Amino acid sequence: MVLEKMEVKKVVPSGYCKGVINAINIVKQAIKDYPDKQIYILGMLVHNRYVVGGFELRNVITLSDKEKSKEQLLDEIKEGVVVFTAHGIDPKIKQKALEKGLTVVDATCSDVTKNANLCLEYLSKGYDVAYIGKRNHPESEAVLALDDRIHLITSTTDVETSNILNKNVLITNQTTMSINDIETIITALLDKYPQAQVVEEICNATRTRQQAVKELQGFDALIVVGDPNSNNTTQLANIGRQAKIKNIYKIENSLELEAINLDNISKVAVTSGASTPNYLTQQVINYLKTRDEQYLKVDLERILDL
Ligand code: SF4
Repeated sequence: MVLEKMEVKKVVPSGYCKGVINAINIVKQAIKDYPDKQIYILGMLVHNRYVVGGFELRNVITLSDKEKSKEQLLDEIKEGVVVFTAHGIDPKIKQKALEKGLTVVDATCSDVTKNANLCLEYLSKGYDVAYIGKRNHPESEAVLALDDRIHLITSTTDVETSNILNKNVLITNQTTMSINDIETIITALLDKYPQAQVVEEICNATRTRQQAVKELQGFDALIVVGDPNSNNTTQLANIGRQAKIKNIYKIENSLELEAINLDNISKVAVTSGASTPNYLTQQVINYLKTRDEQYLKVDLERILDL
C-alpha cells in the first residue's frame, strides 16, 4: 500500500478524566485489599464496555441491566464487596448495602459529589431544583433520588411543560452536559423562571475536552473514540458537528477504521471521551500514522492501563 501522508493530531485534553482514573485505581486497590472476596461493580464503572471486560479478566463482576434498578441489582449480591461508580449513588442504596453487611467501596467522583451537595444545600434553604440532565443516566438518577423537589429537565420541551410553583428555583446540571446545548436550556429556563439562580456545573474535564474540539480548525475529519453509550463521547461528536468539521466518525476501537474511507482525508483530529481507555485511542492514532495492522486489535489485558 502506498501510504499517503496524513496529518494526525491527538486533541489535548482528551481521554480519561481524573474521576475515571480515580475510580479505576479504587477498584484496582479493592482487588488487592479483598483478595478473598467477590467484588461487584453496581452499574458500569464508566460507560465503556472494554473497561467492563478489563475488570472481568481480574474476576470483578459488573452488574448492569437497563431493565433493573440499582436496588434490584444490589439485591442480587449476597456477600462480598460492592463498588459504587463515579456517577454517584442514591444514599438510600448505599445504606441498604451497609445494612446487608457488604463491604462498600464508593468511587463517586468529587465533582459529582459537589453537585449533589449543591442541590442539598439549596433544598435545605427551601428551593426547588431544575436539574438539566439525561433521563436514565446514572448520575442524574442518583441526584433525582435525593428529593422530589429536584425536577429533571432534558430539553427545552421539558422547560415548556415544567410547572415549578416554588418562587425559589436553583438551575443546575449533570456534569457531562454539552457546553453548547446547556446554554439554550438555561436561557429557556430563565425565560420561564426569571428569578431562578443558576449554578452551572459542567465539570472541568468535560468542559476542557469539549472546548478543545470547538477550537479545532482546518481539519477534514474528527475521529471520536468511545463507547456508543457514553454521554461525554457523544457530546464531543456533536460539538465537532456544530464546529462544522466535514467528516465526523464515532468509533469504539481501531478495528472500525477499516470501514472508513481514509483516502481523501489529509488532516485528522482524534479525540476521546473521559471514559475511553487511553490504550484504545492510542491504537487508533498509531494505525492512522503507520497503517500498520498490528494496531488493528484490542488487547483486553491493556485496557486498564492508565
Ligand atoms: S467526567 Fe467529570 S464528573 Fe464525570 S468522572 Fe470525569 S471529572 Fe468526574
